Amino acid sequence: MRARRRALMLAILIAAVLLLIWNGGTFFRQLSYAGADLEREARIAGTALTLNVALILFGWRQYVDLVHEAELRADGERRAAVLASTDAHSGLLNRKGFSDRAQALSRQARDDGRQLAIVSIQINRFKSVNDRHGYEVGDTLLRSIAEAMTEELDDQAAIARLSGDEFAVALAVDPDDAGEAERAAHGVLQAMTSAFTIDGRMIQVGAFAGIATAAPAADVRIPDLLRRADIAMEHAKSARAARPVWFDAGMERALIAHSEIEQGIRYGLDHGQFVPFFEPQLDLETGEIVGFEVLARWQHPLSGTILPEVFIGVAEEIGLIGRLSEAIIGAALTEAAAWDPAIRISVNISPVQLTDAWLAQRIVRLLTEIGFPAERLVVEITESSLFADLDLARSIVTSLKNQGVRLALDDFGTGFSSLSHLRSLPFDVIKIDRSFVANIHSSKESSAIIRAVTTLAGALEVPVCVEGIETEADHAAVLGLGCAVGQGWYFGKPMTSEQAAQLLARRNQPEAPDAGKNAPRTRKIARG
Ligand code: C2E
Ligand code: MG
Ligand code: MG
Repeated sequence: MRARRRALMLAILIAAVLLLIWNGGTFFRQLSYAGADLEREARIAGTALTLNVALILFGWRQYVDLVHEAELRADGERRAAVLASTDAHSGLLNRKGFSDRAQALSRQARDDGRQLAIVSIQINRFKSVNDRHGYEVGDTLLRSIAEAMTEELDDQAAIARLSGDEFAVALAVDPDDAGEAERAAHGVLQAMTSAFTIDGRMIQVGAFAGIATAAPAADVRIPDLLRRADIAMEHAKSARAARPVWFDAGMERALIAHSEIEQGIRYGLDHGQFVPFFEPQLDLETGEIVGFEVLARWQHPLSGTILPEVFIGVAEEIGLIGRLSEAIIGAALTEAAAWDPAIRISVNISPVQLTDAWLAQRIVRLLTEIGFPAERLVVEITESSLFADLDLARSIVTSLKNQGVRLALDDFGTGFSSLSHLRSLPFDVIKIDRSFVANIHSSKESSAIIRAVTTLAGALEVPVCVEGIETEADHAAVLGLGCAVGQGWYFGKPMTSEQAAQLLARRNQPEAPDAGKNAPRTRKIARG
């Protein structure tokens, strides 16, 4: 439209100039035959010429204005395009800009017989820089990191900030030199994690990187390649790897498995596939069953019984651990309500649940609905649960204890094993992790630690429960080290509620010679 207007203006201008030449020519020709009418003709011609010149000037002015306007518009469009593909804070490309540039780079790489590599980088705990030093310092740090990346890489590389703390680099590498992408990734990682001086303060952050390359000459979708680099970066993060980690197909398979587990948990929860199993806990001296630890099992219609290590972490990640845990505890207490009232039921509470301010109310509601005495319930928490928010954990635990619920410190010895944690919450039981029992006969340290914990617990007047007793020798050893209560496969593997009920019913019956070949075992230990 604008181009047409410009062409029209140019045409009028040219027409006006031609008219001027023609008019001027006619005038001077007529002047040479001048006669009596000279004065009148000259006046008419003069007016026409003046009009012509005015028309030319007007046309020229319009033309210049139009050209200027078109330039301004093109400039604005160029700037808008740059802004749409740039991250305002760092000046690097944004996600869209990265995708476009990387796609162009990929085409170029294919033509040149090279290969596209993408490096995904995440800054570790960037939020804590903002929290500690303020957003201005955080923004300056981002710019410094962006500059360091740009200096480190050649100007063909596409460098982007994809979100708050996520960066990506795309570059073409030699397919015959496997180390090229890794060297570049390592270099950029070092540049980003060097110390920056901001407002007189030295600030240094950590970062993790993952690399993925497209097959040479392959038509690559940038989002797919970036996703692979992200997966590798997540692996680097969980392994706390200081070097970039390469993507491999196994990682993708694990991810697919993860998402299948995630969907399976949702479905399984709606269809009652998560059930409580019960592991007996015994008085190590008398051999009497004093309680059961409730352990979640996923009864999958195709895969059979699945252990908690497969699904608890995923349930925590996707925010379903509370629902899952409530389902397990509810079912366990419903079953155990009919058992001997002297039998205590221990349930596991994961660290994520201890950040839920309503946890105590939920548990108390379950107890009331089921009619299960609070004094029979033991809540097991691990030390790591206390790190997120000790005050909240303390208030949850205090509410539960006020109702009469007992509190156990699970897996003691595997974490910080801090005395301050032992003192900060009123634990009723300390559970020694099974890793110590596993090494009890081979490692002097393990038995020394068990003895130290039982002595300490004795001083605090808190009984010790030891996990993982697998053999008669383990039993004798932990008894000798002063443990009062224990559990483990020697006494019985985790079992269904029916099996647990049968086990309790059998306690008072004389044992038949071949009784319970497949049933869970219990040992009745003579006192002393
Ligand atoms: P935990 O609370 O320390 O549970 C003890 C684990 O040790 C159980 O594994 C149990 O089967 C295993 N175990 C017990 N005795 C022996 C033994 O003699 N030898 C060996 N090798 N292992 C033994 P499980 O059932 O796989 O549970 C693993 C962890 O999953 C539990 O550790 C607990 O942290 C978590 N968990 C289990 N159920 C739940 C649940 O309902 N909610 C939450 N939040 N976590 C749960
Ligand atoms: Mg436990
Ligand atoms: Mg444990």
